[in-house]
Amino acid sequence: MLNKKEIRFVLDTMGEMYPDADIELEFDNTFELVIAVLLSAQATDVSVNKVTKTLFTKYKTPEDYLAVPLEELQDDIRSLGLWRNKAKNIQKLCKTLVEEFDGKVPSERKNLEKLAGVGRKTANVVMSVGFNKPAIAVDTHVERVAKRLGICRWKDNVNQVEQTLMKKIPEEEWSVTHHRMIFFGRYHCKARNPNCSECPLLSICREGKKRIRKLEK
Ligand code: SF4
Repeated sequence: MLNKKEIRFVLDTMGEMYPDADIELEFDNTFELVIAVLLSAQATDVSVNKVTKTLFTKYKTPEDYLAVPLEELQDDIRSLGLWRNKAKNIQKLCKTLVEEFDGKVPSERKNLEKLAGVGRKTANVVMSVGFNKPAIAVDTHVERVAKRLGICRWKDNVNQVEQTLMKKIPEEEWSVTHHRMIFFGRYHCKARNPNCSECPLLSICREGKKRIRKLEK
């Protein structure tokens, strides 16, 4: 496992590589952010942005989503994976927003997690990006990078990864690190073919060293 100094090296290196890392979903307000994050499950940000470009013109408020039949909303998002369930969740979520939160997205975790389709990861993204609260959302990239580098253990589940990252990374760096780890995983330490031979973190990365040794055999 990486020590404190090595973790500092990781954070600084990712900061140098991706100083402007930020969410790549497009939205204009917190309500649109929740919808976009919900739509992004098993879909790329690019494909979500394509859909929301027209979706957010047609639907501006929770009431707008509730005013159409479910089938119409399903048609509007059909190009994305899981469109049937996502449309159902969007309408349920909008109903809860109208009935319990005066049509506004709440900022507290316990209330966010009351919304259909919003689990811990989505709540973390909304808290961090929408309300500037420190949070680390662990998606597939964050989990893979944390495990390959040895910040977390291979056997850790998503919650354990989040807890470990929160323990080892200073709170004021949680949100920015979350974005930088996503960029690092998306563009450099990819699921297949991570760029280990040109990685500035190779000297401290157990997985990278293993992969390089294999290539040299
Ligand atoms: Fe990822 Fe390879 Fe870099 Fe390790 S050395 S962080 S596995 S790209």
